[in-house]
Formats: sequence, C-alpha cells, structure tokens
Amino acid sequence: MPATVTAAEIEKAIRNVPDFPKPGIQFKDITPVLADARLFAGAIELLTEKFKPGSVDAVVGIDARGFIFAAAAATKLHAGFVPVRKKGKLPYSTIEQDYALEYGHATVAMHTDALKPGARVLLIDDLLATGGTAAAAIALVHKLGGKILEAGFLIELKFLNGREKLGGIPARSLVSY
Ligand code: AMP
Repeated sequence: MPATVTAAEIEKAIRNVPDFPKPGIQFKDITPVLADARLFAGAIELLTEKFKPGSVDAVVGIDARGFIFAAAAATKLHAGFVPVRKKGKLPYSTIEQDYALEYGHATVAMHTDALKPGARVLLIDDLLATGGTAAAAIALVHKLGGKILEAGFLIELKFLNGREKLGGIPARSLVSY
C-alpha cells in the first residue's frame, strides 16, 4: 500500500506542453506521473478507491494512455483488462463506434468477445476533454451488454463539458482544469 498521494501532488507533476500536437492545444503530459513510482501507484489507488478486488469484472482502457492506468487498475482489482482501440488495430472480429472530432470523425473498436453480457466494467482514460472518445467507448461496452459502474479519468478539462456526453454514468476525475 503506497503512502497516501493527494490529487494536488498529481496535479503538480502533470506537465503542460503548449501547442502540441498542433497550435492552440495545451497538451497535458502525464509521463512525469508515470515515472514517479509513488505518484503512479497513488493515481491507481485514487482511480480505484470505490472498488474492492472482485467487484469489477473488467477494466476497459482507452487507446493509448488510458491503457497504462486501466491495466494497472485491473491487476489491483483482480479484473481483466479490455482495450478500446483506434479502428484497424485489433486483430480479431470487432464492433466499432464512430464519433465526431472538431474536424471530421474517428472510429474506435473493441473485440466482439471482449466482455460477457452483464460484465461489471470500470472505464478508464487519462483525460476527459469533449467526451467524444469516452462516449464512443461507453457505446461499445453497452453493445456487448456490459454495465459501467464508473468512468475514471486522471484529468478532466471541465470547460469542455465532456461529462454531459457520458449519459449519466458516474464519472470521477482526479485533477480538473
Ligand atoms: P475527447 O474525446 O475530446 O474527450 O478527448 C479525449 C481523448 O483525447 C483522450 O484519450 C486524451 O488522451 C486525448 N486528449 C484530448 N485533449 C488532450 C489534451 N489537452 N492533452 C492530452 N490529451 C488529450
């Protein structure tokens, strides 16, 4: 059990990178959190604090930084890990969900056998911005009959109102801007 880590400590470690990947975007770089053993473990503690081992069947992580947190949370909760990937990356048969981007659209996919109907799911990504990506992942989980207990994010950009796209699923974020 790591010593208690506060959200404020995690916030301090998040690095702002202006104009990445394009002008006007302030990229929230979570790699300094990952590189610090105590902060990484603390972030997983905070993201999973509502759940006991065995109370979640699968932790669904979103491509790509969401995988890191979701995989660690899955081992802690004795749950499986399920990836939601960008279209074209998963090798077996998939279900897909389109979502709107600022310009154009994107598609995420999940293996057709990734979840059993009724599976209790914790959804995790590094950052909630407009909510489009998380909403698409939620739609995939629902298509397979999974039940999402909570959606957890390290970071939430509150001014983009992404929560409103989550269809009432309880959402937790550790740090918000
Ligand atoms: P959205 O669909 O708008 O909620 O965007 C969320 C996804 O885009 C997440 O998977 C994030 O990893 C990524 N993302 C969006 N905005 C940022 C940002 N400012 N810094 C880092 N990642 C971001």
